[in-house]
Amino acid sequence: MTQRTIIRNAHVVTVDAADREHSDGYVVIDDAVIVAVGGGPVPNEWTDERTRGAGGGGLNGDSARASSSSNNNNNETTVIDARGHLVTPGLINTHHHLYQWLTRGYAQDAILFDWLTALYPLWSRIDAELVEAGALGAMAVAARSGCSTVGDHHYVFPSGAGDILGGIVNAARTLGVRLHATRGSMDLGQSRGGLPPDFAVETIDAILAASDLAIDRYHNPNAGAMTQVALAPCSPFSVTADLLRESAALGRARGVRLHTHGSETVEEDAFCLEKFGRTPTQYLEDLGWLGDDVWMAHCVHLDAHAIGRFAATGTSVAHCPSSNARLAAGIAPVPAMLDAGVTVGLGVDGAASNESGQLGSEIRMAVLMNRLGAGAGRMTGRTALRMATMGGAKTLGRGAEIGSLEVGKLADVAVWKVDGVEHAGILDPVAALTLGAQPPLALLLVNGEAVVRDGELTRVDERDVAHAVARASGALRLR
Ligand SMILES: [Zn+2]
Repeated sequence: MTQRTIIRNAHVVTVDAADREHSDGYVVIDDAVIVAVGGGPVPNEWTDERTRGAGGGGLNGDSARASSSSNNNNNETTVIDARGHLVTPGLINTHHHLYQWLTRGYAQDAILFDWLTALYPLWSRIDAELVEAGALGAMAVAARSGCSTVGDHHYVFPSGAGDILGGIVNAARTLGVRLHATRGSMDLGQSRGGLPPDFAVETIDAILAASDLAIDRYHNPNAGAMTQVALAPCSPFSVTADLLRESAALGRARGVRLHTHGSETVEEDAFCLEKFGRTPTQYLEDLGWLGDDVWMAHCVHLDAHAIGRFAATGTSVAHCPSSNARLAAGIAPVPAMLDAGVTVGLGVDGAASNESGQLGSEIRMAVLMNRLGAGAGRMTGRTALRMATMGGAKTLGRGAEIGSLEVGKLADVAVWKVDGVEHAGILDPVAALTLGAQPPLALLLVNGEAVVRDGELTRVDERDVAHAVARASGALRLR
């Protein structure tokens, strides 16, 4: 039996290589895969007799209406009339620290190093149960903002804290979102010249063994994977050169991707110049940390030479404009990176430095920040939307499977309501998403399954999630 979903009468932004858009378009999905995309009426071959007898209830009680029917072969078709809606690929987040959902609102006016120093003691008291609650909250908010794939960077593993990565994987499975988890790490404590306190770091041996185990347990290398794992030592000022070198070797031996923070602040630049006599990019490149299997968060302070190295090596970037603004880290030179051919995805970063956690509104932030940084014509809304979709897919190594609405790709699809009071009458429905208020999310499909409908999560009661987050945040505060 095939479950067919037809979304029609919508403004469809495919984000394919030709940037095709269909102002009156359709997307046809069979089970978890997109089988047709185009403009105008849905061709008969997709509707045939399946769609007769349409009745059914509304998707959002307004203009996007769904109806279902089945034919003799027991195939079921759901038709969604999405006039007044914008259809995009599901958004892809390339950098987060889900556990930080429990530590929103701390160190509100600090720069990165002071903010980290304030938060390390709290973070070193987390455990698997608390992290699962925080991850559930963070991913719930991400999903409600159109995010179908969540990239996470987890690097705090207190001893005796249980299976933290398992808690994050559970939370993603509960909500139905795609997860790119990382087994992160820190091993350079204060006594050895690092920024984190010694109680927040692990030994190299423990990290490498846990990384190996995390890949065994949670990494699915197959097409269509809902969970993948990457290795992610935290940053040049919290890990040793040995850990960077050995993590890269392990990741490459196991065929998983590599992730870290780089060139986030001027203080990090100064740290690397003082300790290593090199910029963060030179230091990371010398340790094997540039390559087409690496993506780096922030990259705010890349000079032209560094951008050239990223482009030449195929290293991708997770651009996190809200976090960079919150911590006054600066404005990443994203237009220059894109000009050079660097792949750039969007990230919300951890909620302790971006209490919003919404990827949909991060698109607008990327437009505004990069215009401030480089000029009005240097970042269009559509370019930012591409970063949030196809750019993210490539950044996570999933460019062949997700990130655009094309035949054969996985059915990760966001349907945004743009005929409500925030957006009705707007000249360009894409501008509703990229310049306006984040539109209400009528539907979010992941692998063809509705994870968000009419702005609400389908698999969990949001009040339960909110309650669990409040309880976990309070418990952590008391520790
Ligand atoms: Zn980060």
